[in-house]
Amino acid sequence: MKIDISKLLSTASDSDMSNKHSAVLVYNGRPIVWAHNSISGSKTYHAEVSVVKKFLRIKGCVLWNYKE
Ligand SMILES: [Zn+2]
Repeated sequence: MKIDISKLLSTASDSDMSNKHSAVLVYNGRPIVWAHNSISGSKTYHAEVSVVKKFLRIKGCVLWNYKE
């Protein structure tokens, strides 16, 4: 399996945060969903979580979690 590192870099560069990073979800050896970290209000979102949430949204699912 080969991941397009330049696409990971360009996806990360779309982040509006100073510490930019990205993640890709791979299925059957094929990259299917790309995401970057982000900030919304006072909340920050890791690229690794965003890529899973994006995949689930595409599949019609929602991921709920709770953090104190
Ligand atoms: Zn992260």
